[in-house]
Amino acid sequence: MAARKRSAPKPKARREARAKLTPRGGPKKAPKKPAARHHLPHIAAELVDGNSYVRKLIREIPNFPQPGILFKDITPLLANPKAFHIVLDAIAERFMGEHIDAVVGIESRGFIFGGALAARLNASFVPVRKPGKLPYRTDKVSYSLEYGESELEMHRDSLSEGARVLVVDDLLATGGTAAAAGELVHRQGAYVAAYAFVVELRSLGGRERLVPTPVIAFLQYD
Ligand code: AMP
Repeated sequence: MAARKRSAPKPKARREARAKLTPRGGPKKAPKKPAARHHLPHIAAELVDGNSYVRKLIREIPNFPQPGILFKDITPLLANPKAFHIVLDAIAERFMGEHIDAVVGIESRGFIFGGALAARLNASFVPVRKPGKLPYRTDKVSYSLEYGESELEMHRDSLSEGARVLVVDDLLATGGTAAAAGELVHRQGAYVAAYAFVVELRSLGGRERLVPTPVIAFLQYD
């Protein structure tokens, strides 16, 4: 059977087909997405008042780990990426342009902030740990806590002589822990450029114990 020849589309049909592809007045622009403007003031307000945004995420646990202690739980803050960024950016910004060779983070919550700050400041991270946790040769100091006595250790080869160090912990109470970490830094011939904390309990006088070294705290409580 002979194949039937397809007839060429009629001029009107051709016009209609073309009209479907190219609308009059040139190609149609994609409809503009409405700007997500409703989000921006919200974020901006949080950044302007990052302090109160973060403060709401510090949970207070009475009588933990001992009766009489009001424990400041930072885990809700860590669970909120925006709050975590606000804290890290604020502390890191303070040291931009100031050379920091190493960030010393105090076990264990100081590791969380200290590690992230070291990466932001392009500095090395050095852990200060409770006794028996570090595998290599260590220096050790004893100190008193808001609740009890303790010891801290740091690997002996952690810092070079004259290194500028930022000591980081989640919370400053009496300052014993931070001062002990500072002592470990000094034993290696390095220098504490500043101490940085997320939370400071002003009434416990930790800052006074650490001066004249600069003390930075993102949030203060009376
Ligand atoms: P201090 O040596 O007295 O400055 O105590 C600071 C260390 O103890 C930090 O590592 C804190 O994580 C912890 N700490 C002391 N008091 C509190 C508190 N009220 N809430 C949470 N952590 C605390």
